[in-house]
Amino acid sequence: MAAMMAKEHKRAEILDGKVVADAIKKEVAEEVRRFKEQQGVTPCLAAVLVGDDPASAVYVRNKVRACKEVGIASQQLVLRDSISREELLDVVKELNDDKNLDGILVQLPLPKQIDDRLIIETIDPAKDVDAFHPTNVGLLAMGKPRFVPCTPAGIIELLERNNIPIAGANACVVGRSQIVGRPVASLLLQRHATVTICHSKTRDLPSVTRQADILVAAIGRPAFIRGDFIKPGATVVDVGVNRLSDPNQARDYFGADADKRISAIAEKGYTLVGDVHPAEVDLVAGKRTPVPGGVGLLTVAMLMKNTLQAARGRRGL
Ligand code: NAP
Repeated sequence: MAAMMAKEHKRAEILDGKVVADAIKKEVAEEVRRFKEQQGVTPCLAAVLVGDDPASAVYVRNKVRACKEVGIASQQLVLRDSISREELLDVVKELNDDKNLDGILVQLPLPKQIDDRLIIETIDPAKDVDAFHPTNVGLLAMGKPRFVPCTPAGIIELLERNNIPIAGANACVVGRSQIVGRPVASLLLQRHATVTICHSKTRDLPSVTRQADILVAAIGRPAFIRGDFIKPGATVVDVGVNRLSDPNQARDYFGADADKRISAIAEKGYTLVGDVHPAEVDLVAGKRTPVPGGVGLLTVAMLMKNTLQAARGRRGL
């Protein structure tokens, strides 16, 4: 089947997340410079990392690094895995009260003794740069967002800056999480796409995803979206970040890039794969975001944008 598709279609164009993320960070850096000049203060983000999950540590490190790039100040709080709910609540309340701080980010997931929801609901909504607080979720659902969650906002930027038409398009989002699936569906709807949201109980998923001009995969299952899920020429946005350590699977998933990925597994013990099967999907789709180098970079860039917006919003600008 894959060979048949190859005859009819050249490989999908890769939508480079770095190009778009760099452009956004450059714009934010310029706006931060102007904000500092006019207000005499530097926007500041606090990033809270609880425990020693290696993936979370990498995410926080990338966010702190991005702050430096755009001229935003940052504080990184690293807290022990055994911290109690009350102790973490006290930390968040202190950050809420700190007048010099504009944004608060608590890296999820939290250790099992702590309810993510409770912590998120304690963050001051005006400093909630992840936009997970119910007030910000509600504002987004009403179509009047104060902050837009970073990954969904980044997906929209990626589509719009690559001139991919959204209005009138059939968009399908696989995944209905609060962090990605639901808000990205909401943003696509606000831009007049006809949106279908799929999940683990969706019947005959490929027949639904094959209707999509824009397919967003936010599932958390390596290479789950195969070639036969795709409408020819569709734009496929791969949100998934999964670690892969089996060289045989890497050979199957990555086609011409397999050798590079297998070397990465030999060096680091793993390579990253999204929720989309790249080798198969590239034979059918028109455009595809890569993993890594796609949506993830946009998430960090949009966090910078939200932090600047928080700094403005707290000063009534
Ligand atoms: P999540 O909260 O675990 O949600 C996964 C969703 O996928 C759920 O709605 C689930 O359906 C659905 N699903 C699971 N199995 C399915 C199946 N067989 N068929 C159809 N739908 C299925 O995950 P998330 O937080 O949205 O994250 C998804 C992925 O994106 C993960 O790999 C995560 O690491 C990645 N991510 C990346 C970024 C980034 O910046 N690149 C940011 C956030 C997340 P039910 O609701 O029915 O259970």
